[in-house]
Order: sequence, then C-alpha cells, then structure tokens
Amino acid sequence: MSFVVKMNGALNDGIHSKGMNGNGVHHLSVRTHVSVNPAKLKSNRPRWTVRPSEMSKKTLNPIRAIVDGMKLTPNPEKPMIALSIGDPTVFGNLPTDDTVLQAMKEAIDSHKFNGYAPSVGYQKSRDAVANFYSCPEAPLEGKDVILASGCSQAIELAISVLCNPGDNILIPRPGFSLYKTLAVSMGIQVKHYNLLPEKSWKIDLKHLESLIDDKTACMIINNPSNPCGSVFSKDHLHKILSVASRNCIPILADEIYGDMVFSGCDFQSLAPLSSDVPILSCGGLAKRWLVPGWRMGWILIHDRNNIFGTGIREGLVKLSQRILGPCTVVQGALESILNDTPPEFYQRTISFLKSNSEICFSELSTVPGLNPVMPSGAMYIMVGIEIEHFPEFQNDVEFTERLVTEQSVFCLPATAFEYPNFFRIVVTVPEDMMIEACIRIREFCSRHYLPRSLDSHELDQ
Ligand SMILES: *Cc1c(COP(=O)(O)O)cnc(C)c1O
Repeated sequence: MSFVVKMNGALNDGIHSKGMNGNGVHHLSVRTHVSVNPAKLKSNRPRWTVRPSEMSKKTLNPIRAIVDGMKLTPNPEKPMIALSIGDPTVFGNLPTDDTVLQAMKEAIDSHKFNGYAPSVGYQKSRDAVANFYSCPEAPLEGKDVILASGCSQAIELAISVLCNPGDNILIPRPGFSLYKTLAVSMGIQVKHYNLLPEKSWKIDLKHLESLIDDKTACMIINNPSNPCGSVFSKDHLHKILSVASRNCIPILADEIYGDMVFSGCDFQSLAPLSSDVPILSCGGLAKRWLVPGWRMGWILIHDRNNIFGTGIREGLVKLSQRILGPCTVVQGALESILNDTPPEFYQRTISFLKSNSEICFSELSTVPGLNPVMPSGAMYIMVGIEIEHFPEFQNDVEFTERLVTEQSVFCLPATAFEYPNFFRIVVTVPEDMMIEACIRIREFCSRHYLPRSLDSHELDQ
C-alpha cells in the first residue's frame, strides 16, 4: 500500500480523503516505521505518483490524433504543397491591412496598454466591438461584449457558462473539431447533427430536432462553415431558430467567418433574425482581419427577451476572471482596427478566396471519382471521394496519405471533422500552388481510379 496519496480526481482512493483539501502529495506518518526491518522500510519510502489529470486525458484534438497517425513522407521529386493548414498567414500571400498594423504600432507607442485590463476587456474596446456589430434588429452595447483570447476562448467561455457535466450539446457534422474537444474534456456529451452536402451543407433540421432531449444545453451553429465553406440563407436560419425556439434551446453561434462570403452571396448573422432565442455569438480578428496569432476574440450577448437574465452575464464575467482574456495591446488597437480598416481590404481577401475556390472547384469537378462542393464563403472547400472507385484505399485517411507519398500534396482527411470519405482543402494558398496541387490531384486520381467497381447492385442482376 502506498504511503503517498495524490489528491486529484481518480487517484484519490477515498480512504485517506478525510480532512485533506486541495491537490497535492500528502505524506502519511506511520508509527510502525519504528519497528520494521530495513528492507521493509525501503519499500515504505514515499514514492512519486504524479499522473496526468482526468481532464488532460479526456482532452483530444482529433486533427492531431489523425494526422500524427499518418505516414506522411512526401515524394522527394516534388516540393510539398500543404492544403491542410487553416492559417491564412503561412504563405505570406494574404497580409493583413496596413491600417491594422499601424493601429497595433500606435497602441504600443502610446504606452497605455502595458497593464492589466478588466477581465472582460477595456470598456472602450468592448464599446468598439458593440458599435461595429450593433444593428437596429439586434442592438448591442459595451456591456453585451466579452473580449476573449481568440474565438476559441470565446467558445470555451460560452460552453462553460451554458453547460454542466452530464449535459449535451448539439454540434454539426462535418464540423470544427474544437467544439467536441472542449465539451468532452468538461464532461459534456456531444451529439452530432448532419449537414447535407447535396443541399449545399444545409442542416438536416429533422435530425437536429430529433437529437434534443432534457439534457440538451445548447446548439452550436457555425456559419459560414469550417470545413464546408457553406453559408446559410436567411430562410434556413429562420428554420434553425424555429427549432431552437420550439424546444427552448439557446444557440452558440460561431460566426468567426461572418461577412467572409463571396460576391453574389449574402451573410446574415443569426441574432438579428431571432425574436426570442437567446444567442451567444462568437467571433474574432483571426480570419477576417488575417491575424490569427493576435488572439483576439469576443462573445456578443444577444438576449432581447431577457432569457439569459443576469445569471448568464454574471457567469461569463466570473469565468473570464479565471484567466484574463486577450492581450491588452491588441485591445488598445481594436477600435482603430474595426473602424479604420478600408472596405477594399475585405473585398480583396474575399475575391481572392472566391477565385481560388473557383479554380479548385472547376479543376476537381472534372476529375473522375471526386465530388467537390463549391463553397460560398470562408476559406475551405470540401471534396467528396467516391471511395468505391479507389479500391486501393479503405478511406479518406489512406487516400490523403498516399496523395502525400506520390504527389507531395497534403489535404486534411475529413475524418478529422467526423465526416469520412471527404477531404478539406484550404483555399488561402497562392494561386500557382493551388493550380499545381489540382494537377497533381488529377494525376493521382487517374492513376488509382477504377471506373467500374462491382457494387452490390450489379451483383444482384
Ligand atoms: C479558426 C476558427 C476558430 C478559432 O479562432 P481563433 O480566434 O483563432 O481562436 C473558431 N471557429 C472556427 C469555425 C474556426 O475556423
């Protein structure tokens, strides 16, 4: 029997817990020491039992789990093209605007932003965000804004304030993996609702509603979508709100790609359409302003019918006090970033993403065995694999693995988004790289495509 008891979680054996608080190593004094023989004494020495916590063990990033398990050895004859990285800054072809950089320089030079800010952010910065997103149908004030360290922390705060262990949340499939990673580590169950590729990734609303039960604490709606690049119509958003309203389920809207939609398509934020459903809308600077490393995000609290009441607001404030949110220099620059960035900057980014998406879509839609789905926004395109026509590969993971081996092109297998037999392409890469990647994907497919596979239908005849 160990004489050292580690007091965190499952390692607490329950026997020695009385009178001990907190985590830590507790040495038990044992009177029998006096009379035991030296050999025995040796085995009774305190020993280290430092083990990872249950939470750390339950924290799983599926992208890492899948990618780290893949054998990724590029063809030495071809330079590597990574179409997998969801960071628009990696190739240097999409710099942020000078205004954004200038705002940051001024914030530093002012010497005013070196200290701690309030846990929810400077009032002035919150006012700036409120002002930027406020509209007559969904007015916002500074008090409705919580600044966070990236949209990721905003999502974590929102899930934490709405859910208890044992509750469940509804998340999209395919969908951004962070929702599940966070929820599962907190003991919250996830239920996936289906998106329909043949309907431009609209939500299967019947399926969504069928998943709701007494323990459902919120539904997460990601629009525009990572990984699909889809953008919901106003009509579809109304229908989503009806489901939430009928069942009294609050919504966590991940709108980090808000306004990043291609010309000819309209982005509609969820909150202005809601008459009763309370919404926590999460966003940030990462994608639209092309500075993901700056770690600036926010929650917009939309609660016109006072359903969240003071409880949820106070809960968010309390949670924000655990660890302070975003860097104060970025907070100092925020007002100018939001107000002074010229519209042409956003336009330029969007036209680039659209043009690259079109190149990728038109190249890949004529490749036998592939079914790309044209996006309407964000920075991704999903490509379906008719896996039965590629008998050498079991699934998307094997397919994309071999694509690296032979063609040095890496696309993320959509198994990482709980959606097998698709892969995701990031369209922020330089145009020549995108064209070259598509040529190589075509070559790869024509080499491995088997036109006629004997499916069960044919066997029946
Ligand atoms: C990139 C991304 C985020 C995270 O944004 P950060 O501000 O970098 O934390 C959140 N949601 C989705 C859907 C994303 O693609």
